[in-house]
Amino acid sequence: MRIWHPCTQMKDHEKHPPVFIDRGQGIYLYDREGRAYIDAISSWWVNLFGHANPRITRAVGEQLSRLSHVIFAGCTHAPAEELATRLLALVPAGLTRVFFADNGSCAVEAALKMSHAFWRNLGQPEKCRFIYLSNGYHGETAGALGVCGDRLYAAPFAPLIIPQIEVAGPECHACPCGKTRETCDAECFEGMQVALDANADTLSGVIIEPLVQCAGSFRMHPPVYLAKLRRATQAAGCHLIADEIAVGFGRTGSLFACEQAAITPDFLCLSKGITSGTLPLSCVVTTDAVFDAFYHDYADDKAFLHSHSYTGNPLACAAACETLRIFEDDDVIAANKPKIAHLQAAVRQRFAGHRHVSDIRSTGWITAVSLAADPEKGRPFDERDRTGFRIYREAVKRGALLRNLGDMLYFMPPYVITLQEIDKLADIALDAVEAVLG
Ligand SMILES: *Cc1c(COP(=O)(O)O)cnc(C)c1O
Repeated sequence: MRIWHPCTQMKDHEKHPPVFIDRGQGIYLYDREGRAYIDAISSWWVNLFGHANPRITRAVGEQLSRLSHVIFAGCTHAPAEELATRLLALVPAGLTRVFFADNGSCAVEAALKMSHAFWRNLGQPEKCRFIYLSNGYHGETAGALGVCGDRLYAAPFAPLIIPQIEVAGPECHACPCGKTRETCDAECFEGMQVALDANADTLSGVIIEPLVQCAGSFRMHPPVYLAKLRRATQAAGCHLIADEIAVGFGRTGSLFACEQAAITPDFLCLSKGITSGTLPLSCVVTTDAVFDAFYHDYADDKAFLHSHSYTGNPLACAAACETLRIFEDDDVIAANKPKIAHLQAAVRQRFAGHRHVSDIRSTGWITAVSLAADPEKGRPFDERDRTGFRIYREAVKRGALLRNLGDMLYFMPPYVITLQEIDKLADIALDAVEAVLG
């Protein structure tokens, strides 16, 4: 084993070698024997318009023969310029400046650094702390892990991490005040308000995954929580960082999740779907107010010092421009609506009432199914049984790459999936569950 894979106990591969993918076409991945797998999780949530999408392939190919990369300090290029223009026309009003990076974690790093440097440039260097939600996930670099409420990723590296301020996030799937999505007024926001009040003098900002904490077991909250958070961060005089790396570009049903709460954050972090899963790219979109705090004479020493070698890569920007053209040309957000409804219904039809299902929750394209040994008594599976992992392997055998998250299955397919393929995927998922638990 020469290759060390991410998020993997490599010893598992002694018994179960990695699926060797040879090519991809649409929603399908093919191994070297020609077996097809439905890419049920969009290759870690990045693919929107299918593998080998002809439009994106053509756009990247044309760019490749013109300019594959150039230093982005002191130079610019057409794909980045077009992408910035397109993005700014689509993001919530008031976001006017784009800073590029090359992966999600680095967009979060850049947003955290930019937020703090903003206050320093304004003469308030003591504003350097961040609030994040329990179970939040913002990437796995050391800075990002400081705002990671998902203990699984952060705890093992505690000595390397600058601890920030954790606030209990919404737990809507088991709402302690017994509200429904319709009656909710985000009563649980109180804890956040207390933390904002207690730390106001030293707070740089609050970071949140709007509407869905994806890696944090797909915890979902209604837009009212976001709306309250926007008002409260404004009142507390700190920034709001919206990490839409997973939920951006249509995953929650709207192009950006923030739209559903009609809010404009101070920083919007984007990545994953931005190139429709073709090439790595990310960006932080921010406001004039933030940009202006850095815009000074050279001697004032207020520029934003942060760079990556592949910042604003032209190939990735070309893929992103074509991705946004597809959104526009095919009216994707509207076209997605019946597919989203079908996916949610298909999963519910098969799993609601199942003896091992404790919860099914959906927001837009994201539908998650929690499994438990005894849902009635709230008894989970024994962790050592690795139930979710075994279901994942059964699903692969049946032709679906349906990665588990612990004992949870989730569906987050590319938008080009058809209604029939959604049914097929849901059938495979149920078969896989029965094969393990039946
Ligand atoms: C995936 C993800 C990140 C990190 O992005 P990488 O490209 O994997 O570094 C950050 N925030 C959220 C919400 C994510 O889902």
